[in-house]
Amino acid sequence: MFAGIVINALKGKWGFVALGFLLGWAWLAGAIRLAKPDSFWARRWYGLEKMQRARERFAEAPGSTPWGATAGETDFECKTCGAHVKGYAAAAEHMESQHPERDLVDLHEVMVPSK
Ligand SMILES: [Zn+2]
Repeated sequence: MFAGIVINALKGKWGFVALGFLLGWAWLAGAIRLAKPDSFWARRWYGLEKMQRARERFAEAPGSTPWGATAGETDFECKTCGAHVKGYAAAAEHMESQHPERDLVDLHEVMVPSK
């Protein structure tokens, strides 16, 4: 890709150079599309929904969940009402529907993993 850009630059084809950079950035954006949930990138830029997706994605690797659980799907117990929910998505949904007054920033603060 960069060789192509250089060649186009040498040939004065600046339109292609610009396009090359744009495509390069698009590719780069795709590569970092879903950052690890604990990464600076995720903490800085991800909202709750995307953070949940990142957690689910990276939770598939054994031992990589925030609690060290091995399964991708974790059951939770709601700290507020004690309800049992299955999985990250359901836990987030429970908070949104049952406890909308809670400003849900981090699921760990309102849910405890259960078996
Ligand atoms: Zn609850």
